[in-house]
Amino acid sequence: MHPTRALPDESLASELLPPLLLALTMLATFTFGILLLVRYRADIWLYLIAAGLVLVVWAGAELLRRRRLRAAGAVVSYGLALLPLFSVASLGFISNPVPYLSALGVVAAGLLVGSAASLRVALHALLVLAVLLFAPGLVGQARLALELMLGFGLSMALLIIGVGVLSWVAAHHVRGTIAWALETAGKSERREAQLWHTQADLERTLRERDQLNDRLMHQSAELAAARASAETAYRSKASFMATMSHELRTPLNIIIGFSSAMVDHPEVYGDTPLPPAFLGDLSEIRRSGQHLLGLINDILDLARVEAGRLELNKIAMPLSPVLDEMLRTAQGLLKDRPVLLRREFQGNIPTVIADEVRVRQVLLNLVSNACKFTNVGEVAIGARAEACEVVIWVRDTGIGIADADQSRVFNQFEQVESADTRQHTGTGLGLSISRWLVDLHGGRIWLKSDLGKGSTFYFTLPRSQVSAEAPPKAHAPTLALIE
Ligand code: ADP
Repeated sequence: MHPTRALPDESLASELLPPLLLALTMLATFTFGILLLVRYRADIWLYLIAAGLVLVVWAGAELLRRRRLRAAGAVVSYGLALLPLFSVASLGFISNPVPYLSALGVVAAGLLVGSAASLRVALHALLVLAVLLFAPGLVGQARLALELMLGFGLSMALLIIGVGVLSWVAAHHVRGTIAWALETAGKSERREAQLWHTQADLERTLRERDQLNDRLMHQSAELAAARASAETAYRSKASFMATMSHELRTPLNIIIGFSSAMVDHPEVYGDTPLPPAFLGDLSEIRRSGQHLLGLINDILDLARVEAGRLELNKIAMPLSPVLDEMLRTAQGLLKDRPVLLRREFQGNIPTVIADEVRVRQVLLNLVSNACKFTNVGEVAIGARAEACEVVIWVRDTGIGIADADQSRVFNQFEQVESADTRQHTGTGLGLSISRWLVDLHGGRIWLKSDLGKGSTFYFTLPRSQVSAEAPPKAHAPTLALIE
């Protein structure tokens, strides 16, 4: 809170008024004393002066109480300057020291009201003095009036003028100094207040920081606990999935093995040929078993990746043989569908640093998807070298994926719902696993697709530094029709 700063007049007046009022009270007492001791007679003038002084003291105190300092100063200085002069009416001019007290009123005006006020009060005092001096002249005592004028009047006038001028000059300087002192005090008070504010702000900020720190520590502890329990849950889930998948694979392999043997080599079970309905059901058992095995293998992979237990056996591997092998696989998958296979790479693709088994897995997933969702048109496999990596793609002119679904297909168990996709079997895990595997190699995987026109899936693998082969100059795919 800023203290209200007093004006020089107010501050000075408030400092000086109480002692002056005390002085006036003493003067009033003194006047009564003279009345009682020196002249011991009833003189109306002395009573009037004493009453005037009492009135001035009372009015000054009242105005001071109401904080009207300027008015209080004016009343007190006029009272002091004028009332003593009236003592000549009772005590006379000769040997009367009381009128000289007027000088005090002139000085008080300079200090309490303003430098110009001292001159004003001096002038008024002179006027009153002149009237008092001329009074005997008016009633016919001209000689007495002249004597008084030259003797007492002149010395009194000189005193009042001198004191008025001195007080004017002194008050001017004193007020300047007081104004400067008050200004300086005000500034230091403001600075102190500012400092106080800053300190309070600082303390509040420190308190807030401590509270935030506490909250942060609390949240960190909660986070650590949540993280620990999440990790435990994650590990339990991964280990559960790995165990379950492993346990399921053994009986499944038996189911697939026996059903294959019954379908492919029925003679092993005797000479009687199996009825066709039997064979149909057995084929369905084998197909479903294989689907289940694929799903379990995917889940096992995913569990291993998520548990951080999938280790890559990275080597510098040439890509062309794997891509050629994929073209042959695609050919088998497409069977006699009217789909053209395109080879969009040359033999001199730089080697990459990768786990061959996992690269094959990613490619197989992309190629089998392309074949699965393409009935006419073409499926292409391509690759091109870039500065630090090799970009590989699998392109098809199949059903395509709508823009809104494209970000979802890499999520686990995510399959785009459409009449076409429902016709195809799948787990919705292939692309998710592929993304994990490509990430583990330090590569990226993405797709471009137009609904109804086809899709292209791209992924990158880091180039091997040991490769001596130069990257192909042109990026234009080389077309090679396999069949
Ligand atoms: P799925 O085993 O179901 O094929 P994926 O993770 O490999 O699982 O694929 C997820 C989904 O992405 C598929 O079900 C299909 O809806 C969509 N998809 C993937 N590849 C293609 C493609 N080449 N053309 C159209 N849709 C595709």
